[in-house]
Amino acid sequence: MAKNTGYTGIQTTAIHAGEAPDPATKASAPPLHMSSTFISEDIAGFSAHDLTPDSPYTYARWANPNVASLEAKVAALQGTEACLGTASGMAAAAAIFFTFLSAGDHLIVSDVSYAGVAELARETLPRMGIEVTAVNMSDLEALSAAVRPNTKLIHSESPANPILRLTDLAAVSKIARDAGALHSSDATFSSPIGMDTNALGIDLVMHSATKYIGGHGDAVGGAVAGRTDLIAQMRAEASIHHGGILSPFNAWMIARGLSTLPLRMKAHASGAQAVAEWLEAHPHVTKVMYPGLASHPQYDLAQRQMQTNSAMISFQVGDAAQGRAIAQAMIDHMEVIHYAVSLGHHRSLVFWMETQGLMETSFQLQGAQAESYRDFAGDGIFRLSVGLEDAEDLITDLDRVL
Ligand SMILES: *Cc1c(COP(=O)(O)O)cnc(C)c1O
Repeated sequence: MAKNTGYTGIQTTAIHAGEAPDPATKASAPPLHMSSTFISEDIAGFSAHDLTPDSPYTYARWANPNVASLEAKVAALQGTEACLGTASGMAAAAAIFFTFLSAGDHLIVSDVSYAGVAELARETLPRMGIEVTAVNMSDLEALSAAVRPNTKLIHSESPANPILRLTDLAAVSKIARDAGALHSSDATFSSPIGMDTNALGIDLVMHSATKYIGGHGDAVGGAVAGRTDLIAQMRAEASIHHGGILSPFNAWMIARGLSTLPLRMKAHASGAQAVAEWLEAHPHVTKVMYPGLASHPQYDLAQRQMQTNSAMISFQVGDAAQGRAIAQAMIDHMEVIHYAVSLGHHRSLVFWMETQGLMETSFQLQGAQAESYRDFAGDGIFRLSVGLEDAEDLITDLDRVL
């Protein structure tokens, strides 16, 4: 990891952390290890409880060299002691919830989050006897009021998918610490270099590695970064027992993508800034949310907390009927941007997300929570993930349909 190496720069870390030339072949690029089992030189135990961080490789569900290499790279960039690679971002969220929550415990989850996480928390966890409260975490009083004696975990997401609402993560960490709870945070939208998550006091930082970490839209994966003891617990539960491991091939692909993350994030952010400013000036666009725009209602927090504004933009074009019409025009007429879900790829992606539907399915917000959602999203938003194409070409493509 970066600590005991001859380099400190972030780009050098992204390229070299977790890698070493193959001693057998002297290959410069990391070899891909697809072997499901490894020859034992000892008569070792065969239980998750026998695994230690320096155990030799035994079986690929426990550990694999390509997954370990990716984990070391993510940990080095995130600045944590350790990392667990998982089969997907959802497997990362599930690994956190099912490792650190038991029947009778209480989870506080952001009321707006990745839809899969929102549904897992609201629908599955209560079935397991876990109490769940969904809170607007941009409202710290609401968060403090939701804490119970049995609160074990607070799970935040900033910026929140899909509305780009931010959460003051240092304040959430303090509330969690005072409550004796862990603070896990989904940092997918800002990437492992988007925030100083140690300074923000976050215990577990999770990512969908399908997004910025991999960066090329060709491998699904996830990661959770944090302290060695917490990650070891998760490895025993989530990988060895629940079995949701990252495949070596995906780890190899994602690590290759991660090598250029610092360069990509710079290009993503400058492209997104140009597109966001163009959108904001467009007569048919009624609202734009981007942390790099002074018009973002939490611009000051974004400046304080985010080291890159990343490249996720949401914008509105009026009411839901107008949104649907433009979504159809995008499907029919765009030539560069793909009308598709997902984000963080080198290709730009856009998707229409109508508020009413999300209120009835993933989020189910009422009262002040629904109002806060509408303050950011109106009747619906286009979630635009600005890729690495030339901003002028993206603007031309958007101009065709707006
Ligand atoms: C995509 C995403 C996830 C889920 O990740 P998968 O890799 O698709 O399972 C979780 N959180 C956020 C914020 C996401 O954007």
